[in-house]
Amino acid sequence: MGKVYLVGAGPGDPELLTLKASRLLAKANIVLHDSLVSREVLATISSATELIDVGKGCGKKLLTQDEINALLVSYAVSHEVVVRLKGGDPSIFGRAGEELQALREANVEHEVVPGITAALGAAAAAGISLTDRRLASQVLFSTFSRGTDAHAMDWGCLTPATTLVLYMPGPDYAEVSQRLTEAGLPSGLPCAIVSNISSAEQQVRWTNVGALSTEEKLPAPALMIVGRVASPQVREIGDAFWRGERNELVTQTVSVS
Ligand code: SAH
Repeated sequence: MGKVYLVGAGPGDPELLTLKASRLLAKANIVLHDSLVSREVLATISSATELIDVGKGCGKKLLTQDEINALLVSYAVSHEVVVRLKGGDPSIFGRAGEELQALREANVEHEVVPGITAALGAAAAAGISLTDRRLASQVLFSTFSRGTDAHAMDWGCLTPATTLVLYMPGPDYAEVSQRLTEAGLPSGLPCAIVSNISSAEQQVRWTNVGALSTEEKLPAPALMIVGRVASPQVREIGDAFWRGERNELVTQTVSVS
C-alpha cells in the first residue's frame, strides 16, 4: 500500500509552494490535481509523473467527488506516493473532509500538507493585513455557495471589527452587494476584489459594499475581502487613528456599525 498526501498548492506562484509540497511533487508517482492549480505549479512536475486533472470546471464536470475518493483509494494500492494537489489549502473549501473520510474508511495511510489559502494570498496582493489591529479583531472565511440552503448563511457574528473573506463570490456582483447589505453591512464599508492571486494576471480592485453592485466583473478565480481593513487608505487611517486625529476619513471608516 502507498500513501496519499493531500497537498496545498497555494494560490498560483510556484514559489509559494511549501518545501514539503515541492519535495512531494518531485517524488510523487501520480498527481491528481484540481482545475485551480496553476499552470506554473503543474509545470514544476516532472513529465515522467502521471498527471490527472480531476478538476470540475464550470460546465465540464469531469468526475464526481465519490469517483475522486475511489480513485485516491485505488491509486494508493498501485502507487507508492499519491499526491492529491489542491489549489490554496486543502482544508479551506477544498473538499478535504470527504477525501480524508474515504481514506480513513479504506485504511489508507495519508497526510495533509497545508498550503497558502487564497485569503492570505489576496491580503498579500492587496498589501493589507486581515487582522490590522487598528481596525479588525477577527477574520471570517465564508462563501455563498455552501450549505443545503445557499441563502441561509449565518453571519450573525459579523461586527464592525470583522474582516470577511468571501470565497467563490460568483459572477453577479449586484447580488453579492445585495446580500452583504441584507447581512447588515453598511454600503460605505470597503471591499477589495482580488483576481488571479500571485499570477502575472493578478488584479486588485478597490470598491465598497454599495458600489460593488455596478463593478465590472474581474476574471475568475477571484475573491473579496470585505471590512475596514480592505482599503488602500488603511495606513493613513491607521496612522491618524494612533495619533488620535479622528479626521473625517477616520470617523467615516471606523464608525461603521
Ligand atoms: N482551497 C482553496 C479555495 C477553493 S474554493 C484555497 O484555499 O484557496 C475556490 C475559490 O477560492 C475561488 O472561487 C476563489 O474565490 C478563491 N481562489 C482560489 N485561488 C484563487 C486565486 N489564485 N485568485 C483568486 N481567488 C482564488
